[in-house]
Parts: sequence; C-alpha cells; structure tokens
Amino acid sequence: MLAMNFRGPFRVRADRNMPEPRIEHPEDAIVKVLRSCICGSDLHLYHGLVPDTRTGSTFGHEFIGEVVEVGPSVQKLKVGDRVMVPFNIACGKCAFCKQELYGNCHESNPMATAVGGIFGYSHTAGGFQGGQAEYARVPYADVGPTVIPDWMDPDDAVLLTDVVPTGYQAAEMAGIQKGDTVVVFGAGPIGIMAAKCAWLFGAGRVIIIDELEYRLEFAAKYAQCEAYNFHSIGDPVVFIKTQTDSLGADVCIDAVGCEAKGNMMNTLLGMKLLLQGGSTTALHWAINSVKKSGIVSIVGVYGPIDALVPIGNVVNKGITIRANQAAVKRNLPKLIEHVRNGILNPKEIITHRIPMEEVADAYHIFSRKLDGCIKTVLIPPTA
Ligand SMILES: [Zn+2]
Ligand SMILES: [Zn+2]
Repeated sequence: MLAMNFRGPFRVRADRNMPEPRIEHPEDAIVKVLRSCICGSDLHLYHGLVPDTRTGSTFGHEFIGEVVEVGPSVQKLKVGDRVMVPFNIACGKCAFCKQELYGNCHESNPMATAVGGIFGYSHTAGGFQGGQAEYARVPYADVGPTVIPDWMDPDDAVLLTDVVPTGYQAAEMAGIQKGDTVVVFGAGPIGIMAAKCAWLFGAGRVIIIDELEYRLEFAAKYAQCEAYNFHSIGDPVVFIKTQTDSLGADVCIDAVGCEAKGNMMNTLLGMKLLLQGGSTTALHWAINSVKKSGIVSIVGVYGPIDALVPIGNVVNKGITIRANQAAVKRNLPKLIEHVRNGILNPKEIITHRIPMEEVADAYHIFSRKLDGCIKTVLIPPTA
C-alpha cells in the first residue's frame, strides 16, 4: 500500500510498497484512511528530535477512516463505519483509562511509565504505525474510535482526533476564571485552538504570541484574540507584565513544546547540541510571565528527557503547572456538540490539502512554514 516512510531526519517519502496492516489482536480493527493530518508534533519526529524514531516508520496520529475489518472481540464497530480515531491508543481497562486519562494508558506502550501509546510516534510511544497511509491498524478498537455523525464534514472530524481536544484541554487545564487574562505561546493549530477555547471558559482577555506574522494574523481573526510577534515586542515577559499592571498573566499556555525559538542559548543547547531535551524557551516565558499563584498549562510536546526549566520561579511564585497529553475521547461528546452548534469551526484552520503521494513536499512545506501553511491534510488516493 501507499504510506509515508521515514528514512531519517528531514527525509520522508511516499512509498507504494509499505506492508498492509493486518489484525494482530482480537480487539484490533483495520481502517481505510480517508483523511490524515500532519501535526506540528510530527515535525519533532521529522527533525530527528524524538528518541527511537526508526526508519520504516509511518507517522500520523490524526486520522479518520472507514472500518474495513474487525477482530473477533470487537463489539462496537462494524465494517463500513466511518470513525475518527483519537491519537491516544488506550486499553480502556487500566487504572488510568478508568479515570478517562486516555493519554496515560498503562497497557498500550511497553514504555508506559514514560508515555501512553500514540499512533505513528516512534518506539518511545509504542512503535505503532501511523495513519499517513492508505490503511491503518487500530488497536483496542472499541475504546478510542468514535463514529462520525452523518452531518459532520470529514475535515472537521479529522481535527477532532487531536487539534481540537488538545487545544480545548489546554484551556481546561488552565483553570481559567471569569475575566482572566490568558496568554498562549505558539500560534500553530493547537495554540490557535487553545486561544479560541479560552473564551469558552470565561477568559476576559486572550493574547497569543508567536514569530510568524501570517499565523498571528490568522489567529487574531480565527480566535478573536490579540496577537503579538515576539520579535517586535521586546522581552515577552516584560511585555506581558506591562499589559497586566506588572502582576503577570493569570494563566499561560505553552502550545509550543521542544522546538521553541527566541533564545539563542536554548536553541543551541536543545536543538543543535542536544544537551537538553529540546528548547524550552516558551516554557521559560510562560513560567516567568504568569502571575504569582497563576497556572501554567502545557500541551506542547516535550520528550521524556531532562530539560532546563526555571523551577525556582515555579516554587517561589507558587505556580501550578498542569500538563498532559489530551485525553481525546473524554471531551469528544462535548466537542462534537460545539461543532454541531457552530461554536467551533475546526476546518477553517486547514490551509493545505495534499495528495498522499506528495507527502515529502507536504512535510517540507510545513517544516519550512512556506506558503502560509497552518494545517495540512493528506488525502490518500483511495479516499
Ligand atoms: Zn497532533
Ligand atoms: Zn489503559
């Protein structure tokens, strides 16, 4: 079958000879992929920053598909169902899944103490093949996959597998109180969605910070927020203090993760020399610009490797840090309703629809931030 094939950092190709997935466990399903996104976090894999990313891997944890085969134990899905597949692979039975902590499943990844299973996200996250392919194997098929309502546009559905639930959970974890000033670092799809969702929790002011003008312009319109370029506001921490009576923001959201720009030392140590697990500049800014007793909510991706964090400021300011992989399935019913009611319009963030055969170009465009790219959807030839 046709699938994306990782050949090493900055080298991916569309490969027509990738093996088709098969049922490996009675609870598996096989889906024919209808849409598959490239995520900002796929770029961490593409750039070679995630440990144990093996050649021959297919990335892709944001996909929807049609069920073409089910294992003998699958009860809820049948052939022909069109499903959105959450990026978390969760068993549904362990102590964490029982608390709906689907991103922290203890059964789906041999490295479970570090992270739960994730489709197409290296052997650190379980070594599962991803959905940037014509077909994908979906383990625990009765747990995560959710039938797409008839009325729902598939472009909205595919964004409910990660972008919307992660942006929403970023705002949810931030514990926003009515009237709060919320600062979101990173105007990628997740940051934009977090800014949009912050209003749903009662934010009084939402500020987004990035370095790419086209994304800031889009964010300002889409999320109805203030948008600032960190190259033109001086020190972002000082800037936020000047905006908040010197107190700092009530809430800061890190939607950047381990490839943050804006600080030469962090870039050098974390991304060139790999002496720490990526660059933590956005997290520094979040911790240093939130008010005393404020909350920092982290949904940017960091690996299970040490990174320099100003922990003294966390302690002395009494900051609460809340972080997790989004438990996609937990919030899906609510988010589906928000899409139905027009409160959220996920598909508006899609800027590129690219045939899966051109996956190498798609990664290049997204990685280099060319052509106004915000969100790319890959379309398999069989879709
Ligand atoms: Zn993603
Ligand atoms: Zn579990």
